Amino acid sequence: MSSMNKEVRVRIAPSPTGDPHIGTAYIALFNYVFTKKHNGKFIIRIEDTDQKRYRSDSEAMILDALKWVGIQWDEGPDVGGPYAPYKQSERRDIYREYAESLIQKGHAYRCFCTTQRLDILRKTQQAQKLPPGYDRLCRDLPQADVEKKLAEGIPFVIRIKMPTTGKTAFKDTLRGMIEFENDGVDDQVLLKTDGFPTYHLAVVVDDHLMKITHVIRGEEWISSTPKHVMLYEMFGWDKPEFCHLPLLRNADKSKISKRKNPTSINYYRRKGILPETLRNFLALMGWNFGDNVEKFTTQEMIEGFTWDRMTLGGPVFDLKKLSWLNGQYLKQESNDKWLVHLKEIVFNEEYLLKIIPLIKERVEKFEDFIDHTSFFFQGDLNYTNAPLLPKGRTPTEVSTYLNDLVLKLDVCENWNHQEIHNIFNQYLTEKELKPKDVFMPVRVAVTGSKETPPLFECIEVLGKDIVQRRIRLAIEFLKTMKES
Ligand code: GLU
Repeated sequence: MSSMNKEVRVRIAPSPTGDPHIGTAYIALFNYVFTKKHNGKFIIRIEDTDQKRYRSDSEAMILDALKWVGIQWDEGPDVGGPYAPYKQSERRDIYREYAESLIQKGHAYRCFCTTQRLDILRKTQQAQKLPPGYDRLCRDLPQADVEKKLAEGIPFVIRIKMPTTGKTAFKDTLRGMIEFENDGVDDQVLLKTDGFPTYHLAVVVDDHLMKITHVIRGEEWISSTPKHVMLYEMFGWDKPEFCHLPLLRNADKSKISKRKNPTSINYYRRKGILPETLRNFLALMGWNFGDNVEKFTTQEMIEGFTWDRMTLGGPVFDLKKLSWLNGQYLKQESNDKWLVHLKEIVFNEEYLLKIIPLIKERVEKFEDFIDHTSFFFQGDLNYTNAPLLPKGRTPTEVSTYLNDLVLKLDVCENWNHQEIHNIFNQYLTEKELKPKDVFMPVRVAVTGSKETPPLFECIEVLGKDIVQRRIRLAIEFLKTMKES
């Protein structure tokens, strides 16, 4: 990469829309390693402008999970810095000002189209198999009409005025020049009716104001980059370098997804994967240490880091490989360190204190403790002889229930047994099912057995990541069963 005479400043910009994603740790690691190599700065900016997908607990979870992974940042919402605030919702006035300035320069316009009109437009385009996009009705509204609508208080968005001819090109560090025909790029909304910016406006304004020199992000953002490049040009600003990392993939090469792989960093943390293993493993996803070396520290990676050792083929997030690598690390740990890990991760006091009240009345001697509670400590369960099917229900029916419930649990923000119970009850009413149709398979999926302490309390204590993983594995197992 060029432009190394300036201080290198990189950022990650996670959106607080859910559990801390393993992809965020992967992108963060490469940003971190790159900037450490060049004695630069690493910034975390929270992109919380999508109010519909916002989840209040997510930001703290993301920061906490990244700290656990072992990535340190120099500026961010928790530590502050010279370009604060580092949370986009606190920067709304800035975006509005810049969007207005683009209108003044003739590079953007107010669009008064209603959602109904845009819905009809989208449906018509779908029906006619045309590419989706705004038809630019408001692009050339006479100024007098604009004034009139503003005076009437009609809500509006601000859209970019994309050139309709020519090309927009940019250099990607890993892929060389990438070109897009301007004609194919939509007049993207920059500022929404609620005054919130869209990602495209906010990302460019913030990367500029925060003096970001290198934008290192996932390849899913390549198609957005021409819009960003165009905005830099319209504002008259210098562009950062763009580097799009290959996406993490499931074993079938599709983009990594919850359905096929646990995607929450917390899942790996709970499973007893060491943070150094996770960093090493994520590094291997895109980068080659050389000489077939697979086990290396982050410090060694920083020392040897160059972009030409990146591989662009979709890296597969292979859980077996991750376990193997973790085993390599564990082997080397001293017995004392092992003891510390066991106490911290497996027999964690806080966790034990949640389990004890659930089994107190069932256990007569401490030697029975493990028999009653093994599922709280085990990894993935084996369903071969597990009674997953209630009488009269087929594997397909039960898979459907389990699948619906996994999705409902996914959006459960207050993970406690009452709330979980409510989710189940609502589902039973909605589908007109009996408790046994649903409670039994879920109990067996998450504990491996029919006889357990109270189900919803067990689900609460096991935690969302483990529960979802087990239910998903039970669904996979049901797929292998014959319909009767
Ligand atoms: N908010 C985007 C994300 O969640 C940031 C993309 C970027 O780095 O520009 O990945």
